Amino acid sequence: MADVRERGLGDVPAVVEGPQLFPSMADSVPAAVWLLPDAEQTRRAREERLARVDDPSGRASLERLLARDAVLAELVRREAAERARAVIEVSAEPDWARVTRAVEDALGVLPGLRAGEELSRQRRYENLAACRQGRLWQADVGLAELPPYPFACECGASGCAVTWAGTPDEYDVRRGEGWLTAHPAC
Ligand SMILES: [Zn+2]
Repeated sequence: MADVRERGLGDVPAVVEGPQLFPSMADSVPAAVWLLPDAEQTRRAREERLARVDDPSGRASLERLLARDAVLAELVRREAAERARAVIEVSAEPDWARVTRAVEDALGVLPGLRAGEELSRQRRYENLAACRQGRLWQADVGLAELPPYPFACECGASGCAVTWAGTPDEYDVRRGEGWLTAHPAC
C-alpha cells in the first residue's frame, strides 16, 4: 500500500500482483477489485515453473504450497465479502474480454476514458525508473555504453502499448522535448 500511495496515481488504475494482498489492507483505497485464479490454473502455473528447473525441494513442497494458495484465496474471498469488495474468479481458460469488462464495472471505469496527462505522468515515472535501473546496471557490470532498450510511449492514451528504443541519455534528450510519443499524434 505504501508503494501504491507513493506513486501518486490519481485516477490512473494500477495492477498489483501477489498472493498476500488482502482486502483489509486496502480500506483507504476508494475502488479496488480482486482477481482470484482458479485452483487448477494455480496448480498448472506452479507445475510449469517446476518443470523448467531441477528443484526437488520445490517439488516436495508443491502440495503444501497449493494448500497455502487455497487458504490465502479463501481469506481474500472472506475479507472481500465482509467489506463489500468485488472479487472476480478467473477460470483456467479465461475469457479476458469478459474479465476486463467485469474489472471496469467493479471500478466504475468507462472504457477509454482513463487517458491524458495523468497517465502520461505515470509512464514517465516508469521510464525514469527504467533509466535509473539501466544506469545502475551499466555501472554494476562496468559497461562503456548501454545498448538501446524499450521505453513506454507517454502519449497518455489508454491501452497504448507502443515503445521507443533508446539509451537513458537519448531518453533524457527526448524528455527535454516534452512527453515521449513513439508514434504520430493520436
Ligand atoms: Zn502512445
